[in-house]
Amino acid sequence: MEPVAWAAHRYLMHGPLWRLHRAHHQPGREGPQLNDLFGLLFASVAITLFVLGAAPGAEPLWWAGAGVTAYGAVYALVHDGLIHGRFGLRPLAARGPMRRIVQAHRLHHARATKEGCVAFGLLWPGDVKAMARKLRKSR
Ligand SMILES: [Zn+2]
Ligand SMILES: [Zn+2]
Repeated sequence: MEPVAWAAHRYLMHGPLWRLHRAHHQPGREGPQLNDLFGLLFASVAITLFVLGAAPGAEPLWWAGAGVTAYGAVYALVHDGLIHGRFGLRPLAARGPMRRIVQAHRLHHARATKEGCVAFGLLWPGDVKAMARKLRKSR
């Protein structure tokens, strides 16, 4: 799911659906955001997979729905809860086992623009130092 989420973030949220994602890149925004609609979008994909997967012989679709649901739950906990401090949770500091994930997502939020962002993945952030260099170079 991580590559699918990366591609959706890079090419849909920072592409034709930027209007919905933009508020998430504006600092100090609390409470519900238009960006939360993406959670509903991915939930509807999971529900569709569960419905289609209920047919005889289509069990792989049901398991794909379970995978989308599990990834969505982890994404909401890590991204919204532990990084952005929603759901009443305190944001994590950029240290410990989650350090690279937190650092990479902070780099993603270093820009409030559709273009020029780095770190579109969440749980598998990649080379944080290389992303920081890329961000510095593009300034
Ligand atoms: Zn973004
Ligand atoms: Zn974020």
